[in-house]
Amino acid sequence: MNQPSSNRKSRSGIFHIGIDDTDSSDGMCTTFLTYKLVEILLRKSMTRLIDYPNLIRLNPNIPWKTRGNASLVLRLETELSRQTLFRICKSVIHRYATSERANAGLAIFEGAEVPDRVVEFSKGAMFTVQSLTEARSIMEKEGLSYYGLRAKQGLVGALAGIGNELKSDYTFELIAYRKNCSVRRTLDKSRIIGMDRDTRPLTFNCYDEENDRVLIMPHGPDPVLLGIRGETPRAVKEAFQMLLPLNNLLGYMIFRSNQGTGEHLQNELDLSSPKAYTSGKVNGIVSSLPRVEKGGHVYFNLRNEQGEIPCAAYEPTGKFRMNVLSLYLGDEIEVAGGIRKNTPKHPKILNLEYVIPLKLVSHWKEQNPKCPQCMGTMSSEGRNQGFQCKECGFKSKSVSKLKTRVERQLTEDRLYLPDLKAHRHLTKPLQRYIYEKSNSGNSAIARRGEFLENWILTS
Ligand SMILES: [Zn+2]
Repeated sequence: MNQPSSNRKSRSGIFHIGIDDTDSSDGMCTTFLTYKLVEILLRKSMTRLIDYPNLIRLNPNIPWKTRGNASLVLRLETELSRQTLFRICKSVIHRYATSERANAGLAIFEGAEVPDRVVEFSKGAMFTVQSLTEARSIMEKEGLSYYGLRAKQGLVGALAGIGNELKSDYTFELIAYRKNCSVRRTLDKSRIIGMDRDTRPLTFNCYDEENDRVLIMPHGPDPVLLGIRGETPRAVKEAFQMLLPLNNLLGYMIFRSNQGTGEHLQNELDLSSPKAYTSGKVNGIVSSLPRVEKGGHVYFNLRNEQGEIPCAAYEPTGKFRMNVLSLYLGDEIEVAGGIRKNTPKHPKILNLEYVIPLKLVSHWKEQNPKCPQCMGTMSSEGRNQGFQCKECGFKSKSVSKLKTRVERQLTEDRLYLPDLKAHRHLTKPLQRYIYEKSNSGNSAIARRGEFLENWILTS
């Protein structure tokens, strides 16, 4: 039958595809699976991404997370049906999420506007523990298609990823993959150091100067060759080009991400009932003097109107522990981090991810007075008995101890962070606070949907 051509044209729909928990310590990486999926989808006619693939890091203080607790999201417009899309995604997951420990989850939402309920669920997943039951219930109510492997725990992250459209702060990462995973990653360190120097502050966390450590290259068996993080797609691309030619390079893709934004610490922690595995920030007063314990970990207590909690700066945080040790009783500070579960031996502990001194107490040191006759040192004759000079014997009741102010090692309103090597994916590095101030946020950055040419290189 003859139909008008306008009727024959199929309508294209907008889809949000969330994938999580396909990786494991034995080799797979969800970003690689996403890379392969994008490669397949871009070959389909009338399919285009409306945003860079999103790499969403979720609450890093959950112990059963996969390596980086990452959720991957594709937002696209296509003439493919939801069923076809679902089938393609499922087959890619089956092909790549083969580890016995990959409790993969796939969720697909159809529509331009992500429902509020999904957005709310996603906000919670940044700092607390969201349940699989809750994720399932929301997906049913909002009509998402979903699919999980094994324990299906990845459905939580898949849904949470869809709900985080990176509407406030965000960064980019170019991740390059390798052809052969059994070939060792080799890259000249001096080139990375040069690239880091030439591209900062538009790139971040490429190289830890203090500890002389390269941060762009992983060490595991996964297909990632390297990852470069930065403020704009152009910045990460140009930094990458400085490292070419690269041995064993398969291809690369640029992701938009909440890495380096500190998004998990926006939540206010409640010290009256701190919940294990939650992340967030809290203000309080230092209520016990910081002390070093076995293993080089530093502990102190923090108190506010709601309650009191031990705080810890663990050994791997490096020089950060010296800053924490410089705190005094009574200092008013803002701290952030994750609540560690209590054990039979220890109460719940706040694992510190930053400290900001708000109001530092004055710290005084008392010294015996100098003799007015010979400038020798006087010593106390006992309470209210005055002082006597050790040198000439001069006695006086009218002199008193000298008080001198001890110079504090910390500065008010300054942010103190662990060493770079101890940063989490979500940790907002110092240079981003400074960059933000000088550039008023992301205004200069390509907005969602504006694609750089060659943002993906497929094999
Ligand atoms: Zn004297």
